Amino acid sequence: MRKEEVIVVGGGVVGAAIAFGAAKAGAPVTLLDQGDIANRASRDNFGLVWAQSKGDGFPRYARWSREAIDHWKPLADELMELTGVDVDLQQSGGFWVGFSEKEMRARQTMLEGLRNTGPGVPYQMMDHAELKRHLPAIGPKVAGGSWCPLDGHVNPLKHDLPLPAQREAPWRPGDQWALLKLLAGSR
Ligand SMILES: Cc1cc2nc3c(=O)[nH]c(=O)nc-3n(C[C@H](O)[C@H](O)[C@H](O)COP(=O)(O)OP(=O)(O)OC[C@H]3O[C@@H](n4cnc5c(N)ncnc54)[C@H](O)[C@@H]3O)c2cc1C
Repeated sequence: MRKEEVIVVGGGVVGAAIAFGAAKAGAPVTLLDQGDIANRASRDNFGLVWAQSKGDGFPRYARWSREAIDHWKPLADELMELTGVDVDLQQSGGFWVGFSEKEMRARQTMLEGLRNTGPGVPYQMMDHAELKRHLPAIGPKVAGGSWCPLDGHVNPLKHDLPLPAQREAPWRPGDQWALLKLLAGSR
C-alpha cells in the first residue's frame, strides 16, 4: 500500500461521497463494502435534502447542514455529467405542519435560532388559512405550518448509484471502486 492511499470502509452514501471527494483530490482510493444485498440507510430513507430544523442545539451540525444545501446542485450536475444518472434533485421548498399553537410557537423559536446559521436559513410561518392555500388537503386540526424555500429532496434509490457506478446498469458491490479509480487515475 502506498503511503497516501485512502481506504474507505463502507460504500453507503457517506463512504461513497468521501471516497469520491478524495479521489477527485487525486488520492488513490479503494472503497470497500461488505457487499451484502441489504439496502441500508442510504437507499431506504426519505431522500429529504432539508434545511429547516436541522441542527437545533448543535451549531456546527446546523452550519454543515446549511452549507450542504448549496453543494447539492453542483454535485448532482457533476454526477449527471460523469455517470448519466439523474438523482432527481428538486429544491423547491418544504413545509412543516403543526397541530397546536404551542407547537407553532416552539417551531418559530427554533427556526429563529437557526435563521442566521452559515449562509442563512430563511423561513416563513403560516397560519391555517395561508397554509391551506399551498396545501389544500390539510384538515381542520392543522394549526399552521412553516415553510423553507431551501428544502428539497433527491431520489434515494438513485443518489448513491452514480457515486460508485459509472453507468446506469444495476448496482453491484464489485462496481464500487470503478469510478473512483478512474477519477484518481485521470489526474
Ligand atoms: C428511515 C430513514 C429515513 C431517513 N431519511 C433521511 C432523509 O430524508 N434525509 C437525510 O438526509 N437522511 C435521512 N436518513 C439518514 C440517512 O439515510 C443516513 O444518515 C445515511 O444513509 C447514512 O449513510 P451511511 O453511508 O453512513 O450508512 P449506510 O447507508 O448504512 O452505509 C453503510 C455501508 O457500510 C457497509 N458496511 C457496514 N459495515 C461494514 C464492514 N464491517 N465492512 C465493510 N462494509 C461495511 C454497509 O454494507 C453499507 O453499504 C434517514 C434514515 C432512515 C433510517
